[in-house]
Amino acid sequence: MNDEIHEGGCLCGAVRYRAVGRPRHVNHCHCAMCRKGSGAPIVTWATFTTATLSFTKGKPATRRSSDIAMRGYCAACGSALTWQGDSNPDLIDITAGTLDRPERVAPVDHLWTEAAVPWLDVRDTLPRYRRSRSAG
Ligand SMILES: [Zn+2]
Ligand SMILES: [Zn+2]
Repeated sequence: MNDEIHEGGCLCGAVRYRAVGRPRHVNHCHCAMCRKGSGAPIVTWATFTTATLSFTKGKPATRRSSDIAMRGYCAACGSALTWQGDSNPDLIDITAGTLDRPERVAPVDHLWTEAAVPWLDVRDTLPRYRRSRSAG
């Protein structure tokens, strides 16, 4: 099923996107930068091949959030939309919460649990990594 289409956009509707194909990966991120950037304790990211993502209305503003990545957001309403690491420009993460039908993607793991807020009790059985998948 590589012809599935995922559409979404920001809260105000100024930015709309479409991604074609299945996400390469879907994860929950507990890191402090995602927390600050979204205002929420966890951000769920759906990773797509950059070439399959198109913006059908508007474009996200971008901001360098660290020395390894850029984050995209709606300049009008502030919704967090994208994350793209410098080391792998062929992939781009979309905030699963901005998908029109977020139920169609399935997270597979938790990242950066060492930064998780203690009052959020998530009891799924997905694998958990203290930091990134590669760092363990
Ligand atoms: Zn917006
Ligand atoms: Zn994060």
